Amino acid sequence: PGAIVAQITEIRFWSTLDYTRVVIDLDRDVPFTHNEVDHPYRIYLDFSRTILSAAVKGKNFAVGDSYLDRIRVGQYQLDVARVVLDFKQKGALTVFTLYDPFRVVVDIRDLGKGQSLDERKRRLARLYRESQDQAKSDDKPREQSADKSVTAPSAGKPSATPAPAGATTATSPDPKTPAKPASPAAKPAAQPPAPAGASADKPAAERPKPAGSGTLPQPSAGEPGSAGPLPPPKPNLDGRRSLTRILGMKVGKIVIDPGHGGKDTGSIGYGGIREKDVTLAIAKKLKAELESRLNIEVLLTRETDVFMPLEQRTAMASVENADLFISLHANASNDSKAAGIETFYLGLTRDSRTQLLAAVENASAQQNLSQLEDVIKKITMYEKVNESRDFATKVHRKMIGAVRKLEPSVRDRGVKKAPFVVLIGTDIPAILLEIGFISNKREAQIISQTDSQSRVAQSISLGIEDYLASLGTLARARAAAGTDHVR
Ligand SMILES: [Zn+2]
Repeated sequence: PGAIVAQITEIRFWSTLDYTRVVIDLDRDVPFTHNEVDHPYRIYLDFSRTILSAAVKGKNFAVGDSYLDRIRVGQYQLDVARVVLDFKQKGALTVFTLYDPFRVVVDIRDLGKGQSLDERKRRLARLYRESQDQAKSDDKPREQSADKSVTAPSAGKPSATPAPAGATTATSPDPKTPAKPASPAAKPAAQPPAPAGASADKPAAERPKPAGSGTLPQPSAGEPGSAGPLPPPKPNLDGRRSLTRILGMKVGKIVIDPGHGGKDTGSIGYGGIREKDVTLAIAKKLKAELESRLNIEVLLTRETDVFMPLEQRTAMASVENADLFISLHANASNDSKAAGIETFYLGLTRDSRTQLLAAVENASAQQNLSQLEDVIKKITMYEKVNESRDFATKVHRKMIGAVRKLEPSVRDRGVKKAPFVVLIGTDIPAILLEIGFISNKREAQIISQTDSQSRVAQSISLGIEDYLASLGTLARARAAAGTDHVR
């Protein structure tokens, strides 16, 4: 056998009702193979010149979700470590590698068979319209049908997701009051039952690590929870209390992902500005803006300067059953004149500058992008990336408009496809914003000054609202044409 060069250091996983993500962590880049066998169906991954670390040796990881029974690890040969995924039910597989540190991601889902995007869009459109109607009824007394106010928000809600219960605990009933972050105690109720059950059945010592197994970042200590009784809902002017108010129901849930963090500073720009700091600052402003204007539930993948792996950011959106995903980044270039705003959705590109950007954001070498091609081809064949493109276009337009007021010559670099890893693994509209070049003096000012950060955050919020409003317009147009029964 060859000399041992690597160790498997950890196994992590996240589950929803129709999706499983498994990550195998290693301390070095080694060749590996993955194979499927039947009777019973399982897949195994063999890692060459690799041994098991003490942290995983002799362990079985009980998963117990829709697809996986458990994950086993073993030393198959003296120099080959094997990871076996024992299935309960087959799903479509995508396998890809990430770097720095090296890890292998296995995604399992029924491609095209999850909660349908159309259903999600109709629900968002209905909730958005309801919230708009309510905003109007605050201004003018208006007769509202009791039937409508009771049935409209709950119909079409996925039965498997106890979102209303979670929303009740975690949010304020008044749509104009900014929501408080969900308390840790409220979290399990807001998640699909699978991951909660899986980790509850497992002795603590057997869990992969605190960050794995569906565990999500909690609000940092010292932040307000949602303790204490909720104030009673204010009646509308006609005296009725709509369900939106009674349940504190939200228009939807959006995950905002401030790029980089902790040891990963992202790009360093003009005057030493760090990408990880500006993305977090703008994400927080965007969260406040959305919560006050739209009554939408907003989660940040990180609230502080901490490192979070790319695959965990998307997993959070899945586990939280979010409706929209936005990753915030800032561009950089050796050419200090390079400037402009560009917005991305998942796809392949032949443009070498975009490939380089994706490699940088993926923390990977550009030549490693080729192995993502098959994965992305498979995903984009089944999933409706056009929806992400529409979402990207709406947000991009508003951003360009806002920044143009600050800097009339801002360059519109357009809406594009790119193989960003952080956009892989979710079937909701997911986009990545490059809000400007921090290597450019003028754009670094815009991105780092608190006033202009607020303008940028506002414009992204307006773009999100534009998108939500367009869903409602679409639903109404279909209803008018008699092609859609939703009204
Ligand atoms: Zn970045």
